[in-house]
Amino acid sequence: MSFIVAIDGPVGTGKGTITKLIAKELNLVNIDTGAMYRMVALQCLKNGITKIDEEKQKIIEIAKNIDIEIKHNKENQEFFLNRENVTNLIRSKEVTAFVSPLSAIPEVREIMVDMQRKMADGKNVIMEGRDITTVVFPNANVKIYLDADVEERAKRRFKENIEKGMQTTYQETLEAIKKRDYENMTREVGPLKIAEDAIVVDSTNMTIDEVKEKVKQIINSKM
Ligand code: C5P
Repeated sequence: MSFIVAIDGPVGTGKGTITKLIAKELNLVNIDTGAMYRMVALQCLKNGITKIDEEKQKIIEIAKNIDIEIKHNKENQEFFLNRENVTNLIRSKEVTAFVSPLSAIPEVREIMVDMQRKMADGKNVIMEGRDITTVVFPNANVKIYLDADVEERAKRRFKENIEKGMQTTYQETLEAIKKRDYENMTREVGPLKIAEDAIVVDSTNMTIDEVKEKVKQIINSKM
């Protein structure tokens, strides 16, 4: 038997930060599904694949054969793609731009969803992404949709990117987020949407700590 906490939401709502903290405090295995799609995107770029429509078949083959590993240490998750540590590489601008159109390919989603279910098998997990509450685990014990105003999300992401030393502007960050939200919400398979029975937490005017406490409260009430 496993206990599943499923969290969905658009870019920059703090999903990653919140799940990391809660996983540690409640002793849950943290699975960042966005990182898995990012690894497929990185492997495609490494193989010189940049066109979604023309090279769809090659992308599917890559997703089928990819060797993805998530290692959990005390503080963080580390992501290994074919045994290489790509934890930082998967956050590049190039990967970020390629991952959303790539993740609209139904066959890629099918492979990833299957992998995600296997990763959670028999464990107590907190899994975050875009389709966890709707497709991967529609019967999860806890279902949360984290939301926030788009300009607030852009502000947060811009700050993070600058701290990482990325060359970018607020405007560029805002546009990239809007584009990714649009792609994620309008694709035919596994679009980002609020599951009927998900609890919505709007983090626009909340600190990370407040969101964490709110989400923990919801989880504790279902445990
Ligand atoms: O969460 P993160 O922003 O790292 O996810 C990267 C991309 O992966 C998203 O923009 C989305 O296109 C895709 N994704 C997805 N389904 C998930 C998780 C992520 O389509 N469950």
